[in-house]
Amino acid sequence: MADYSEDYRDYERWNPYGDPSPFDVSTELVDGCSVCDKDGLIRCAGCRVVHYCRRVHQYAHRKQHKSVCLKIKKAQEACDKEEAELRAGPNGPPGWGNPLEDRWPRLFWGIHPMRQYLSARFAVVELQMKINTRAAVQAALDNIIDMLRLRRGDDMWLRDIAPGLFLRLDRDQACYDFVKWWTWRFDQRPKDIEGMGGSYTDIKNADMFEAPDLFINTALPLLTPLLAVTLLKIRRLIDLQAIQRVKLEAGPYVPQEIQDLITAHAVSPVVAANRNIFQRQDHVPKIEELKRQIRRLYDRVLEANKYVWPAMVRPGNHLTATPRYAGTGTIQEMQTNLPYIYNAWSETPGAIGVIEELQKCTVKS
Ligand SMILES: [Zn+2]
Ligand SMILES: [Zn+2]
Repeated sequence: MADYSEDYRDYERWNPYGDPSPFDVSTELVDGCSVCDKDGLIRCAGCRVVHYCRRVHQYAHRKQHKSVCLKIKKAQEACDKEEAELRAGPNGPPGWGNPLEDRWPRLFWGIHPMRQYLSARFAVVELQMKINTRAAVQAALDNIIDMLRLRRGDDMWLRDIAPGLFLRLDRDQACYDFVKWWTWRFDQRPKDIEGMGGSYTDIKNADMFEAPDLFINTALPLLTPLLAVTLLKIRRLIDLQAIQRVKLEAGPYVPQEIQDLITAHAVSPVVAANRNIFQRQDHVPKIEELKRQIRRLYDRVLEANKYVWPAMVRPGNHLTATPRYAGTGTIQEMQTNLPYIYNAWSETPGAIGVIEELQKCTVKS
């Protein structure tokens, strides 16, 4: 069998359609019309991930949107072409079935049309991630989850991109389960990742308040899982602190309208959905425990790569650096990973502020 391992390094061939256009920092994901945020009933026919309330706004947005829209359209067409070729086959031994529908073992990556197809699809994902609409983030995540189904070996490190997308969609529980599975498997049983046997992402409803030992003690600390888990914890901390403050001021019976106001503005969907959270007597022990966990995660990231936290607070042009090679602990490693997770942080009010506070404590001690 041919050995394609050399191709792993050939990143540019994976991404012939991508481009290093500016990174758009987002503080709020666009749900509706990309011009006025009202209900977006008209979908852009080119990229299919941007919406408008009426034609006038679509025209008004065209100049600004055209370039990336055309790139997505072209990349999607190239991807569709690769898929059609793959479906036409023959790509495997007789009787193995369709490579897109059936579960094939690890030599997937050795099948050249499959590699081309996944590369073309990755180019679509990279472009979708340049658009800060809910539909674009959802489409990018759907692509990644399906690509991981086809190629669990994950040569393109899609598992580093997915956590930030889950978080931007407020799918915190799904994010935690995903990150926990990959960290655990990568650390303990890497062979399970390659093989198609055994279970896949079978961790469900893991406790997001549990101690983060798994992520801290892993032999090879990876930045995006650590940054995703840190943000998950910070979201809970921010909300519990807000609830605790109100309880202190209002006494044991918080008026319903104030409860509604707080849950409506909660940054963690779990807190927002938990109507009993006001009835629990005292959140202080949980708040203190979360602070300890966040501190440990912060220290672990600092140890793994000293460039991450300063860049999170002041990203400058690190988000558009697109480095080619990334050794552990290097500035390039940070520049590779930060863009995947940064908008999930910047869309969480107060999250980066928590890091700034921790930095001050580190300087003092
Ligand atoms: Zn509009
Ligand atoms: Zn478009």
